[in-house]
Amino acid sequence: MENAKRDYLRTIAGRLGFPNSEILIGLLDTMLSEREAQWMAHLPGTPHDLAERLGQDEGEVAQGLADLYDRGLVLLEEAPEGSRYVTTENPGWFMDLILFDTRYEERYGEAFLDRWREFYNKELVHTYEHPDPEARPWRVIPIVEKVEDTRSILPFEQVAGLVRQAERISVQRCPCRVRERACDNPLETCFAFDHVAEYHIRRGVGREVTVEEALDILKRCEELGLVHTTENTDRPTVICNCCSCCCVFLRAITVHGKQAVMEESRFQAVVDQGACIACGTCEERCHFGAIRRREGPAQVDAALCMGCGLCASTCPAGAITLVEVKDPTFIPKQQWSLLDEILPEGG
Ligand code: SF4
Ligand code: SF4
Repeated sequence: MENAKRDYLRTIAGRLGFPNSEILIGLLDTMLSEREAQWMAHLPGTPHDLAERLGQDEGEVAQGLADLYDRGLVLLEEAPEGSRYVTTENPGWFMDLILFDTRYEERYGEAFLDRWREFYNKELVHTYEHPDPEARPWRVIPIVEKVEDTRSILPFEQVAGLVRQAERISVQRCPCRVRERACDNPLETCFAFDHVAEYHIRRGVGREVTVEEALDILKRCEELGLVHTTENTDRPTVICNCCSCCCVFLRAITVHGKQAVMEESRFQAVVDQGACIACGTCEERCHFGAIRRREGPAQVDAALCMGCGLCASTCPAGAITLVEVKDPTFIPKQQWSLLDEILPEGG
């Protein structure tokens, strides 16, 4: 690799928080030509800004940035002087934008996915520790039918509520399962809404679906024992359906032993000790080891329960309900959004 290219790649990796990561620099090297790396390293800016700063042809820069946008490597953001290209500073989001897209592994093969897996497990996951609950980017959504008193549940805490209020819905393949390849769960389980959905559909990585189709997929995910999750805000724009062997957040908890990664739902499982027949189904369903039989009815470990409701939805005795343990103020008002950085071209 030429020195100039390496400097550009180090700048891009640095913005993502990993200036010395040889794995990330190697991945960027695979994906970018030297000219493209130079453009990315000099963002933010419009094609006009960049062309002027670098002494290059504006048409060529505009075409190149549009191509990088299509490949998920740069994004568009609203600025006072109009929309401009930016690079995200969120390494997990950057990884997802690439792994949503089948074109990368078609071009670079399985070794490309292996490198992302190595990056996540050796480097990225070690940045996933957020003692302040408000700083946790992701949150569990409970299975609403299992909440004891549904009056306490808010519209954005329900998968059906989020789906029904969306004007457009897209479904993408799960970038975590694409990267880890640790289970046979279906890939097409990541949902986006409205502006985020439009972005994925425009890039050709999202498939537009109806409300009914989205609800069918979500039901199937629940049956398969996948945990519904979303952004930890009151205006989420996505729903994921997560397994603990692949998901960046669940795997961080279950494989890497990090607890303060993702916010629980506001609910927790409670077992009716008289009704439990000690069958053990709930133990098998729980990803977090939070419910166990100890020579008798199942007991919930409140410190481990994430409030997903997967145990409750298959309990043959109907012995488990979700009860509210935190009030709605525990869900942060919107502080950030995937919407901020993905304006469509010219948007
Ligand atoms: S699934 Fe229900 S009945 Fe079976 S052990 Fe768990 S709580 Fe008890
Ligand atoms: S016990 Fe496990 S499966 Fe049940 S709600 Fe808690 S985290 Fe989910």
